[in-house]
Amino acid sequence: MIKGSLKAKVRDGRIHVRFMQRGDLGAEANLPVKVYRRCADEINFSTGMCGDSPGFWTEYIENQRMDDPRVQEVFAGTLPLVHSFCEYVDQTAKVGHIYLYWVTQEVDGRLTKIGPVACKLRDSEVWWSYERFCDEMRRLAADYPALVSVEDFGESTRHRRMLGLKIGSQERTILLAGAIHASEPGPELLLKALRFMLETRPELLEQVGLAVLPAVNVDVREETVEGEPFYLRKNPNGVDLNRNFDFNWATEYVYGYSSGDPDASTYHGPYPASENETRAAVSFVRSVKHPLALFDYDSCSVVTEDWLLLDTSPDDVNWASHNRLANLYSRAFRASHPGCGTFTAPPIEYPMPLMDCFADTGMPHGTFEGWVLSTFGIPAFSLQSAGSEEGRCNDNDQVPLERLEQWARRHAHALIAVLEDFIRGGGD
Ligand SMILES: [Zn+2]
Repeated sequence: MIKGSLKAKVRDGRIHVRFMQRGDLGAEANLPVKVYRRCADEINFSTGMCGDSPGFWTEYIENQRMDDPRVQEVFAGTLPLVHSFCEYVDQTAKVGHIYLYWVTQEVDGRLTKIGPVACKLRDSEVWWSYERFCDEMRRLAADYPALVSVEDFGESTRHRRMLGLKIGSQERTILLAGAIHASEPGPELLLKALRFMLETRPELLEQVGLAVLPAVNVDVREETVEGEPFYLRKNPNGVDLNRNFDFNWATEYVYGYSSGDPDASTYHGPYPASENETRAAVSFVRSVKHPLALFDYDSCSVVTEDWLLLDTSPDDVNWASHNRLANLYSRAFRASHPGCGTFTAPPIEYPMPLMDCFADTGMPHGTFEGWVLSTFGIPAFSLQSAGSEEGRCNDNDQVPLERLEQWARRHAHALIAVLEDFIRGGGD
């Protein structure tokens, strides 16, 4: 009979629902089952600053009932065995929706039920798998061999290679990084922006180059690609990588969590730079001869905007120049460019007051941008959503491909403005 837990994962653009039958049935282990499903788009991606929704929504999912009128039978019969799992491949689930599944079996008048399990079928053009974004990096290197090379900066917790790009001159270099939190912007946004820059302004890159690590939290990001409906943040060891850097590493209380608590969404790890991904990000930065600035793409889902968080104070000698660079980025990001759509958001002028959530606590400890700024004295920003009308689709992870492309282009224009500024000698 059916036992244990029901799993659902996206593979090759379809939801695969899997479970086992075993134990007391011997040779006849693979008996007919029924699969039930309902669409559950009421489940939120994230309801809090640091994704504190999963606890609530996990409980919500567990409490969903199969006798709900929205639940429909989608399969009845014997399923093929794939590596000893019975597997149902959902051919009718629609992209952009979250589904709940149950499986039942009746043997000798006894009904067994497993589920529900939740899975979101994301657009694979919007959320790129690890394999896909590594391929795109190799493709950029093949398309622009004189300017682009792929480099390996280390190994993730689950032993994925952490690949990045070196683009153009490596005498003076701007650093870009993404997805330090799993379900956040990185590969798609950055690699689209880079391709646009290589197509339109390669001559700038010959003068000031880029070094790019598109996904720091590569392992858990893949769980989002594979259908986890909720915003995910920490690495496979349960560490918030953007609290794990050896900068001001200490227990603090931000977003209502203590970073010293392993159960917290902001757990900073057992000691500074304890995580493979943190050490790879450090190697990435240290591999650059003369870093000029870091832009770390943060926020929710796959796009972010031009709210540039700067972890320093007016006492810093570089305060004015760092804020000048933030204004430059923001203005170029917001200017109207072909193919970028409209951008309707409250005006921004740097220096900005601290975000409300940090007003009482100060900026978070142990961050990547804080480590870069304090170690190299260069401007280092975490880019957050600026709350535009057009970008609101990001909050609940419903970004259409068109918006991803527009926002990638906006970031490309902003980075072009930054490159031009460094080439003129303004920012150095
Ligand atoms: Zn984040």
